[in-house]
Amino acid sequence: MAEMIYKTLGKTGLKVSVIGFGASPLGGEFGSIDLEEGRRAVDRAIDCGINYFDVAPYYGRTLAESRLGEYLEGKREKIILTSKACRYDIDDFDFSQKRVMQSIEQSLKRLRTDYVDLYQVHDVEYGRFDQVIDETIPAMFKLKKQGKIRFVGITGYPLTPLRKVAEAADVDTVLTYCRYNLMDQTMDEILTPVVRRKGIGLINASPLHMRVLTDKGAPNWHPAPKEVFEAAREAAMLCRRHEATIAELAMQFALAHEDVAVTLVGMSKVHHVDANVAIVGTEPNAALLAEVLEMIEPVANICWKEGLPENDDPGAIDKRTLGMERSKEMTKEASK
Ligand code: NAD
Repeated sequence: MAEMIYKTLGKTGLKVSVIGFGASPLGGEFGSIDLEEGRRAVDRAIDCGINYFDVAPYYGRTLAESRLGEYLEGKREKIILTSKACRYDIDDFDFSQKRVMQSIEQSLKRLRTDYVDLYQVHDVEYGRFDQVIDETIPAMFKLKKQGKIRFVGITGYPLTPLRKVAEAADVDTVLTYCRYNLMDQTMDEILTPVVRRKGIGLINASPLHMRVLTDKGAPNWHPAPKEVFEAAREAAMLCRRHEATIAELAMQFALAHEDVAVTLVGMSKVHHVDANVAIVGTEPNAALLAEVLEMIEPVANICWKEGLPENDDPGAIDKRTLGMERSKEMTKEASK
């Protein structure tokens, strides 16, 4: 079994495994899952030294938190547990202090614990800047004083509002997704310099570009244009010809980032945990990596619009709109 590597998460002092367990698949975000396999994946991750778990009420519309809480029963103290507030559905956001205070109580109950290690504003790009700074983040610091959370972070997709909030507030961590992987490296242009200067912990989520960089390919709700999927498919075929997989190469690429403390990959299956842990400490095949990056280059760094219009990154395109259908299905399942 590969030896896990740990890094310090900014100024929090938390020693986090370089691979973090993204729990959104436990909520069925990538399709329905085998619940016992989900439990085994969590157990396996802990046995392999993964100590960082990321979840949110939004994932599976509370299902991911409830399932993870159940699977972690008796193991809570072995791990660093993080959750989020403010996003509850595709288009249901609430950045008020009142909702943050209610939300933490509900999350703690579902997670079967009395504190989370890191609590994050989920997708800051959907909040008004003034409210996030004057109300949401201060509410989280109140929770910190009450001992319900240990550290405060922000998450999101567009880099411009993440940078703006990170500059204006003393947050402990910033999480961005789909902005540093084989498909997109713009995190380094916009966000990395600020987090480096302020000593903020950097969390890089979706190293597989939300399943684009796998043999299975993107789920039908993925917001990227089809040209991105086609380029990834070609790159996956190239990897297979070299007896490698695109997922392996994508993980190696993401894990090599020096400023990133934890790379968050979504998992609900034991064999994915094993495959991802096996990557730790390995180097990519340099020639293959160069060829894949060249192949992807015409569609690299394509980003889509998320959030309020004032938060768009330069050059962001309209996303596809299949998300609403998925959301309706998920809400139905969660309320069963
Ligand atoms: P990802 O890029 O990690 O892809 C996950 C998908 O890839 C899942 O379908 C999983 O089954 C599959 N997979 C995992 N390992 C694999 C392997 N070795 N081979 C083939 N397939 C594999 O995307 P993600 O799950 O969206 O992102 C990771 C985590 O980051 C999420 O689960 C979530 O916890 C977090 N996240 C947070 C935010 C936010 O806060 N705004 C946004 C996105 C993601």
